[in-house]
Amino acid sequence: MPEFSAPKVVLSTEFFVTEECNGCGLCKNIAPDFFDFVDYAYYYYMSRQPVTESEVALIREAAAICTVDAICEITKPH
Ligand code: SF4
Repeated sequence: MPEFSAPKVVLSTEFFVTEECNGCGLCKNIAPDFFDFVDYAYYYYMSRQPVTESEVALIREAAAICTVDAICEITKPH
């Protein structure tokens, strides 16, 4: 009888900036390749997602320094 094995679930981490962002730019200073500015709205957004472990760690560092907790992280099946 064949052995059953459940499909492997690969999780990916994604980040986003909430409307709480006040446009201070601290995240851009820490991770300039991942945040961009919206002039007309005066807030920052994620211009790209981190791929490597070190990039994820960098975004988490930016999230930790954000004074309004506007950088959020979600983990979901890839
Ligand atoms: S550090 Fe936080 S409040 Fe400041 S620009 Fe980045 S997301 Fe916005």
